[in-house]
Amino acid sequence: MSSTWHILGAGSLGTLWACRLARAGKAVRLILRDPQRLQAYQQAGGLTLVEQDQASKYAIPAETAESRGPIHRLLVACKAYDAAPAIARLAPRLAQEGEVVLLQNGLGSQDEVAEQIPHLRCIFASSTEGAFREDDWRVRFAGHGFNWLGDPANPATPEWLEELHDASIPTEWTVDILTRLWRKLALNCAINPLTVLHDCQNGGLLGHLPEVDAISAELARLLHCCGQPEAAENLDEEVQRVIVATSANYSSMYQDVRAGRRTEVHYLLGHACRTAERHGVEVPQLEQLHQRLVKNLHARGLPSA
Ligand code: NAP
Repeated sequence: MSSTWHILGAGSLGTLWACRLARAGKAVRLILRDPQRLQAYQQAGGLTLVEQDQASKYAIPAETAESRGPIHRLLVACKAYDAAPAIARLAPRLAQEGEVVLLQNGLGSQDEVAEQIPHLRCIFASSTEGAFREDDWRVRFAGHGFNWLGDPANPATPEWLEELHDASIPTEWTVDILTRLWRKLALNCAINPLTVLHDCQNGGLLGHLPEVDAISAELARLLHCCGQPEAAENLDEEVQRVIVATSANYSSMYQDVRAGRRTEVHYLLGHACRTAERHGVEVPQLEQLHQRLVKNLHARGLPSA
């Protein structure tokens, strides 16, 4: 079985993973959106990763989904709303015993992907690393963090995990990946939409604590009712801790909205509301928050799904 890492999406996280794997001598191939993007990449001559103000260029080979050859190991590094359509295009190339690692934030996109490729192993990731695009094909590594990987359907550790350690990608295997993804989703739901609605940095929410608390309490109740009690533990305290620790930061949703970019709301607050409905849990605060956010996005001409 080929040990090449195919990486779909050369944005912030895709570049961060691709460059570190290539630097460690692993075989990496990028899968880019279309022939135009491939041509632009080839003209640039590679990906540039900026770490502590040091820029290094990596001439990683690239192709499009329509190129030939089987894919055994795929890292999906696009946004949550792009994951399932991207996999639909790649499906004919995915080998029977292949493995797919999903880096998407939130929940819901992983299941959309897994439904399309039931014969393949899908590994979910939750990342606290931070990177952003300074330009096309140029990414700045902005925040050291950690990557949790796990497979809700199979606790066995994949044999390639050591390759990530070789590449200095901080990673650990966990059997509780859903708990981690739900916890991150809940923190996001309690903070990010309110920063958009109140037009503020995270610290600005200290002036709206009763609203933050009411939303945190409802999220904790939802997590208990949908079989994620561990993700609910002391959620309100952690929400406040995160608000204080990141008070000068603008949330990722705030930054997306400000830049006129589509948000991942459908896989964050939207997923929480859909899960509540499925479990028959009443979440009036979350519903209202979702409606206010959707209205705000539509007023800016941005999609809400
Ligand atoms: P990003 O910078 O917007 O990169 C996404 C990339 O996916 C873009 O380069 C885009 O191509 C590419 N893409 C989309 N559809 C494609 C397709 N069909 N074929 C090939 N490439 C395709 O996004 P990101 O910040 O890396 O985020 C990826 C995921 O990681 C998100 O779910 C995000 O929430 C999560 N995450 C990000 C960070 C972070 O610090 N950035 C941290 C934790 C989690 P184009 O360049 O052609 O548009």
